Formats: sequence, structure tokens, C-alpha cells
Amino acid sequence: AKADSQLQQQSRIQNTKMPVDLTLLSHENNIKQWFSNKYVYPVFQPQYDSDSEKITGIECLTRVNLPNIGAISPFDFIAAVEQNNRIDEYTLYFIDNALTSIHSLLLHNPHLSCSFNISAQNLDKAFADKLVNLFQNYTVLPKQITLEITESNAIKMTSEALYAISRLKLYGVKLAIDDFGTGYSSISQLVDLPFDEIKIDRSFVCQLADNKKAQAIISATFNLATSLHFNLIVEGVETQEQLEFLRDKGNCIIQGYLLSKPLSTDDLQSLILGKGKFKRASVSKIIKF
Ligand code: C2E
Ligand code: MG
Ligand code: MG
Ligand code: MG
Repeated sequence: AKADSQLQQQSRIQNTKMPVDLTLLSHENNIKQWFSNKYVYPVFQPQYDSDSEKITGIECLTRVNLPNIGAISPFDFIAAVEQNNRIDEYTLYFIDNALTSIHSLLLHNPHLSCSFNISAQNLDKAFADKLVNLFQNYTVLPKQITLEITESNAIKMTSEALYAISRLKLYGVKLAIDDFGTGYSSISQLVDLPFDEIKIDRSFVCQLADNKKAQAIISATFNLATSLHFNLIVEGVETQEQLEFLRDKGNCIIQGYLLSKPLSTDDLQSLILGKGKFKRASVSKIIKF
């Protein structure tokens, strides 16, 4: 499994259409400046309760738009930042920047959760301590925060990484397994880790209409989540048919273009307050644990 995931990781990097050259940014090698120049910024994708269609949370996602180059996939960008050993600095600054935009929304909506993607390289004691400090500075309730770790990264947890996630878990944040179903982990491995949420990968959802295997995998994941008391999030829901299929399986949280694409800070605020082109969205009063 270890060799498998290393291979996967490598092929992802090799598959990069255009390797991200961070020297492009070297005239201002300061990550803070990438944000102040708006080369890098957060966007926010709402997550909805499948039954009530009320908003339960948002996922903060990186966007990269470089002068003379244009948009770069966040996946490629994050891989480049990792290769340059700057992922701790990047993740902390990204979360800081995102919270600057939305902390008052979180304070006013204590049932709204907010999730961030964490790289495997981030998970050590020093990073966990800095992250807890950051959350404390914003006076955000720890239970409003979810940290997402991809399934392939969850498999290769070192003892240092385990320490970091226990530290964060004890502080009170929730932990999610991202891209569930793609990482070949064993169920017992997952149960041993202190996760609260499973996020089913988009690749299964987009095959729901005509692939019996994808349907079976999603049904099985609903059963697993129910019996082991995980919250279930389904990402990449694009059609009403997919939503109906999922509703038929039970209650879950839905993230996908059908209900909302990732939004700018202004559009997120407008959605929740019902301003401009946005009809007011209700925020769920139920926070699930
Ligand atoms: P992810 O965490 O699984 O994020 C979900 C991805 O699916 C996002 O892509 C989102 O825009 C996309 N998505 C959501 N709904 C739909 C849909 O209905 N249809 C389609 N086709 N796509 C949908 P995005 O923003 O391009 O991010 C890709 C990946 O990059 C993320 O996957 C995550 O692994 C990584 N990533 C993004 N931002 C960060 C970050 O700040 N830190 C780290 N470490 N990784 C990040
Ligand atoms: Mg994610
Ligand atoms: Mg580190
Ligand atoms: Mg995914």
C-alpha cells in the first residue's frame, strides 16, 4: 500500500501539465505578498444538508492566478509548494487569510462549520502548535473547524503525524478523510484514527447514473458511516438525479456544483445574507458531531 501511494503521488506530479515554477514568484518570495497581490486567494464552497438544503458549512479552497500565466490548478500548486518545503508556511498563511475574511461569519453563525485541506507534510508537532495558536487568535470555536486529510495521506501516518492529529483533535477540531475510496486504506486503519467525517470522492458520484459499482460503493459507504458514526459528505454532486440517489440512501452533506460552486468572500456573504443576485440561504441550526 505504501509503494502504491508513493507511485500515485509521483504520477500525479509527473502528470502535471505545466510544472509550477515557483521561481516565477521569487522576486517577491514572501508568501504574504502572493496573497496581498491576489496571485493566491481562498474561495469558499458551501456544503448543504441533503434533506433541508440548508448550509451546514463551507470548504476553503486555494485559487492561484499568476501574472502572464493565468490560473494554475490548486493541486499542482500545492504539490509545488510541498516540493519547495514551504507547505507549513503556506497552509498557516492560507488559513489565516481565509479566517480574516470569514471569521465574523463564523462568529455570527455558530452552527456553520469551516473546513481546510491539510497536507501530510504539515502534520508534525510544531505545525499543530502553530495552528492551534492561529485558531485561538481568531476566537473561532474549535468545533466549527474541520481539517481534511486525503485518504492516501492518512495511510502513511508517522508517529509524529499521529501526535499532531491527536493534539488538534484534543483541541476540539473535527477531522475528515478526504477523497474517500481512492486511497486503498483498510477500514480498520481508518477506525483507529480519530476521524469524524468521511468525504466520498467525486469520481464515484460522477459515475452514479450508469455504473452499478459506483452505486454499490456509495451505498456501502453510507452503511459504514452510519454504523461507525461518521458524518458523511458527498462531493461533486452536479445533478438532481445524483442528489435523489443520495437522499434515497439516507441523510448526508452535499457539496457540489448543483447547489453551489466555490464562491468569493463577497458572494459567500451575499448568499448567507441574501444580497444582490442571491436568495438568502438558510444556515442549518444543527451541527453534527
Ligand atoms: P478536494 O479537497 O477534494 O476539493 C474538492 C474539489 O472538487 C475542488 O477542486 C472543488 O472545486 C471541486 N468540486 C466541488 N464540487 C464539484 C462539482 O460538482 N464538480 C466538479 N467537477 N468539481 C467540483 P479544486 O478547488 O480544484 O481543488 C482540488 C484539490 O486541491 C482539492 O481537492 C485539494 O485536495 C487540493 N487543495 C485545494 N486547496 C488546497 C489547500 O489550500 N491546501 C491543500 N493542502 N490542498 C488544497
Ligand atoms: Mg477537501
Ligand atoms: Mg511540518
Ligand atoms: Mg476530492
